[in-house]
Amino acid sequence: AQRDPHQPEFLQAVKEVIQSLWPFLERNPRYLEQGLLERLVEPERVIQFRVAWADDAGKTHVNRGWRVQHSSAIGPFKGGMRFHPSVNQSILKFLAFEQTLKNALTTLPMGGGKGGSDFNPKGRSDTEVMRFCQALMLELHRHLGADTDVPAGDIGVGAREVGYMTGMMKKITNDASCVFTGKGLSYGGSLMRPEATGFGTVYFVEQMLHHARRDTDGAKVLISGAGNVAQHAAIKAIELGAKVLTLSDSGGTLYARDGFDEAALQEVVELRNERRGCLSELADDTRFEYLDGKRPWHIPAEIALPCATQNELDEDDARALVDNGVLCVAEGANMPSTLEAVEVFLEAGTLYAPGKASNAGGVATSGLEMSQNAQRLSWHHADVDERLHGIMKDIHANCVRHGKRADGSVNYVDGANIAGFVKVADAMLAQGVY
Ligand code: NDP
Repeated sequence: AQRDPHQPEFLQAVKEVIQSLWPFLERNPRYLEQGLLERLVEPERVIQFRVAWADDAGKTHVNRGWRVQHSSAIGPFKGGMRFHPSVNQSILKFLAFEQTLKNALTTLPMGGGKGGSDFNPKGRSDTEVMRFCQALMLELHRHLGADTDVPAGDIGVGAREVGYMTGMMKKITNDASCVFTGKGLSYGGSLMRPEATGFGTVYFVEQMLHHARRDTDGAKVLISGAGNVAQHAAIKAIELGAKVLTLSDSGGTLYARDGFDEAALQEVVELRNERRGCLSELADDTRFEYLDGKRPWHIPAEIALPCATQNELDEDDARALVDNGVLCVAEGANMPSTLEAVEVFLEAGTLYAPGKASNAGGVATSGLEMSQNAQRLSWHHADVDERLHGIMKDIHANCVRHGKRADGSVNYVDGANIAGFVKVADAMLAQGVY
């Protein structure tokens, strides 16, 4: 805390992990040697740079860009880029730290990183977004490489932005290696990558409920967010027979009392992805209630999937969910629950999965995209889905192995942290102090 006094999100993520690891570390003191923890919480490299670009009217804007290369202990740095006005070094350091453990959990050889900019794509034209992406790549390109650092999308960075950045990368380097994942299908993208995080989160929920011998038929599901992860979590949940009651964005919550059907969901997808609008535009639609400025967590349901952003579910929200009888909370977003909210879930015995376990399907499929690019192959849809399913099952089994309590229930926080940590820590110990 003394070293990073102005980085609350980063300190929150480190505290959550170290607290949960501590009893394991006391039983396994070799992991306290060679300054291992001190090295693990210090990124290998943080790059900050100026991004200057001109808008459509010719006015110059200056944003900040970053890449946090957290750990290459088990493979090249890997993690998304986020474009949002709230982006700062603390948020990117927390995301890169979590990414390191998450990537280890996927069983694939990927280190951890994260990057982004405080650029706000909302309300910007396509040509402005393109010029911004190109300006950012003028600096970022020198830090990337298929075996060095491979970024992807995150909040505010979807297929359009990844396309512009990949195009500029190839232009500058004269090299078509895989330096972004989440690419379009026509230039090296993988089938299932857009769906992978949301689908993977739902696959993880299936595993949790199956392991706890709970039935999900017709379960009511609350989802926050209305972006990539939220949309695909909703599609898969509906496909499996659940009733999705909500989606949300920074403005408020769209509540469908009888559940979203396919047509209603499609409307949201089109609004968000094509017209790039806000959910409030559907406030007058009689199929929905629009809860202005509200989050979904006070509506009774059996399953909650926070899929928007960090710290979007606090202690009060967690208590409301528990009081309303929630069975399972699985994070599609990164660190959406505050430390206090997690405590509430653990005390109540809620089946609670931290993002680094339940949302790892996205980066896992990015790992599959890297493999396909390296082999100059494109796998079929069913192949990728089957591998994603298998990876989510393996992550679940790993969480159970390391997080099983004496009474047979599972602490998924401890399970995910220990399983991810052991892989990274063993690699660091084997490679010496540097
Ligand atoms: P998108 O940009 O596609 O969607 C983000 C959604 O979250 C939007 O609905 C947005 O609403 C909402 N949101 C963003 N910031 C805030 C905020 N400060 N308060 C309230 N709502 C907010 O991003 P993704 O769906 O890709 O990412 C969502 C989460 O999932 C993030 O935590 C991300 O790190 C995590 N994640 C994503 C992966 C992926 O493959 N894409 C992989 C693993 C994790 P609005 O537009 O109104 O701001």
